[in-house]
Amino acid sequence: MERLRRWLDEVEGRPYGAYKRLAGRYRMAGFTLAIDHVQSDPFAAPSRVALELPMATARLDEGWWRTPVRRLALEDYLARRVAAVIARVVRGHRGSGRSGEVAILPCGQEVLQRNSVIVTPEGVEARITVGLPAAGRRCLGREAAAILLDELPVVAGEALTAAALERAAVERHLDTVEDHQALQAWLQAARLVAFVADDSLLPRASGIDDHPLGSGALPFRAPDTLAREVELPHAGRVRGLAIPAGVTLIVGGGFHGKSTLLKALERGVYPHGPGDGREQVATDPTAVKVRAEDGRAVSAVDIRPFIDRLPLGRDCARFTTDNGSGSTSQAASIVEALAMGCGCLLIDEDTSATNFMIRDGRMQRLVARAQEPITPLLHRVRELYETYGISTVVVMGGSGDYFEVADTVIQIEAYRPADVTETAHALAGHAVADAVADLPPLTREASRRPDPATLSPAAGRKPVKIAARGRDRLLYGTHEVDLSRVEQLVETAQVRCIGHLIHYYATHHGDAPTLTDGLAALFADIEAHGLDPLTPYREGTLALPRPHEVAACLNRMRGVTWIA
Ligand code: ADP
Ligand code: MG
Repeated sequence: MERLRRWLDEVEGRPYGAYKRLAGRYRMAGFTLAIDHVQSDPFAAPSRVALELPMATARLDEGWWRTPVRRLALEDYLARRVAAVIARVVRGHRGSGRSGEVAILPCGQEVLQRNSVIVTPEGVEARITVGLPAAGRRCLGREAAAILLDELPVVAGEALTAAALERAAVERHLDTVEDHQALQAWLQAARLVAFVADDSLLPRASGIDDHPLGSGALPFRAPDTLAREVELPHAGRVRGLAIPAGVTLIVGGGFHGKSTLLKALERGVYPHGPGDGREQVATDPTAVKVRAEDGRAVSAVDIRPFIDRLPLGRDCARFTTDNGSGSTSQAASIVEALAMGCGCLLIDEDTSATNFMIRDGRMQRLVARAQEPITPLLHRVRELYETYGISTVVVMGGSGDYFEVADTVIQIEAYRPADVTETAHALAGHAVADAVADLPPLTREASRRPDPATLSPAAGRKPVKIAARGRDRLLYGTHEVDLSRVEQLVETAQVRCIGHLIHYYATHHGDAPTLTDGLAALFADIEAHGLDPLTPYREGTLALPRPHEVAACLNRMRGVTWIA
């Protein structure tokens, strides 16, 4: 520590490059400050720094990290805590460029596996970035000392030692995540696809703000006929809406809360922390939201179950396009999701192609089957469940065609769900039964994989170029992938992680017989070794997505060759 203070004194006023010699490890009071990488100028990406505390100092209860799920939740809690302490004690901007900026990877509303805070039996480490301060391009060594020797010790002490943590808050966070895991396990045992506890708060602050809608949100309340009770390890007995396996239809007037419920189900694949409002919303972890995606690239996907006989003899068995339509993109997304082992499709009329969703009796009489290449989901949704056990939850306020194929019909009226299954069945027609006689076969194709040789992350002279441009865009080598309509991706850090996962997949598991197998092997590696093997040096910028989202990204990459 004295050595560091002396060096910081010496660099004062010198050209920025003088900071380079700071790289190294320093023993501070109660922790080690590791300066892993020093930025080359004040405008570049800030320097990478880690705060390492031995467990003897951090003294985090063993019960907080004993099981994988509790450790993940603890790491998530501590990452949020580091961000909060930084916001309170770090002065921030001091000098030119990004001088004085201290940051940890930001966390959204979901609890995810990240590599910004790592807890092991030996200790805890937080990986942060520090903009070493400069005036113009000259070192401000004394300002740097204020950050490294005054501010960071407070961050280490207040965010990462049990003595400074509010025990009840830590335990509430861990218990909440563990309850969510128990809910997901129960869903499977009880043959349900989703559960929404009473008193959940589903609406969000706005379309661009994922925090709960403050006052004015009507708490959720399940109708008696669809309610179940479950015993959770920490929350005890909880009542809520249990959506059974099968085909579930959500109906109701416009602006009554249908999409809000479906969105909560989409996010229910992840745990949420206390105060989010969706803590006890859980969905089949393999559930996939599929939507129409005009303009999306599709590569060698067998879309015949939904679309065959396209004009000009286009190949529907290995359908390829740079510019998919609403219906072809939605068909491809479903086929791809099924190949990845999706157990439940989540679909909203707001983001679907109408001709993919339904074809009513009158239209069937006018346009003969021979002239219509599209088999609407309506005609396949029962078969999907009965043959493959794949459930569907579909929001559809504008057509009663799905009454005939739905096992459960939920009406949302002024944000309140009601069970209208019986009434809907009484009104159901017979158009579907008549139409499903001569459909093309429904096969669950799973044999594609990308040629790993076409997944190079190199760009120009850089052997590896992987970067996220926000939540919506991945740069991977010379590829640029639009992920804006992969709706279950929630953080930029997941997008960045997908880039590294694809690189790792291509180099380690690209020869597995199918993409699904290769991604399973990839995720087994992550489970065993964490996220660190993905990057050449220590960093804290990744959050783990699901295999489904990694596949979704690969499936949207242009210029990749697929081997069947
Ligand atoms: P729909 O899909 O039925 O047209 P939305 O789900 O888009 O309706 O919801 C319409 C509006 O109602 C949104 O602004 C949403 O935030 C709000 N909303 C949804 N659920 C609730 C609720 N439980 N309490 C208060 N507002 C809600
Ligand atoms: Mg809607």
